[in-house]
Amino acid sequence: MSNDGPVVSVNMIACKVCGKLNEETSVLCASCRSYLQPRIDAINLFETVWALVESPRQTFRKIVLSQHKNYVFFLSSLLGINLVHTIFWYRNLGNQFSSLFTLTGAGFIVGPLLGILYTLVLSFLLQVMTRARGGSATLRNMFAVVAYAGVPIVMSFVFVWPIEIAVFGIYFFGNNPSPMTINWLLYLILISIDGVAVVWSVVLLVIGTLAANGFTRERIIFVTLSVMLLVAASWFVLHVA
Ligand SMILES: [Zn+2]
Repeated sequence: MSNDGPVVSVNMIACKVCGKLNEETSVLCASCRSYLQPRIDAINLFETVWALVESPRQTFRKIVLSQHKNYVFFLSSLLGINLVHTIFWYRNLGNQFSSLFTLTGAGFIVGPLLGILYTLVLSFLLQVMTRARGGSATLRNMFAVVAYAGVPIVMSFVFVWPIEIAVFGIYFFGNNPSPMTINWLLYLILISIDGVAVVWSVVLLVIGTLAANGFTRERIIFVTLSVMLLVAASWFVLHVA
């Protein structure tokens, strides 16, 4: 991979007033301060969730250009609650809790702060890595991209997790008895949906990181490797912590 070349690796848009080329993530022309593209005022959550399925790159551009990054703390809080429950599940901690109520309660109490912190760390690291390669992502934009990339995981939390709880109860989080012995087929189906949601979120994170930096497809391998590295590091922390 060549190290020079913001010319080929960053999307540019020409100012209609003075003709100067600007990075596609900028709203005002660097030379004459004219508007390069309309600034988007706010993000509509439900519209955006659907648009992320239809045209992820366009949608992340909108999120980047939006003045108010609505719902980013809400989404990262839900991600955090899901993360805590995933830790309980992954480490078979179900037996440590007296009831399903205390287990989910712990998730809802610790989750939001953990989710916001995790989103912040992830967006900070991604910003540092991509800036080193000529990207233009701000921390605020990267935070919004990480939060919205988590939408598939949030969706599985909203729609799949209640089924997991309803069918398996606290045994979902333990191995005594294993949820496999209760209903192995349903267990594998539900776990697979969760897995697909995680993969989908990782793909969205790559697309969003490209958009937040104004990167062209030239940088897709670099961004994919950076995201994979951070996902692997997250899994490692989950595994040893
Ligand atoms: Zn201009």
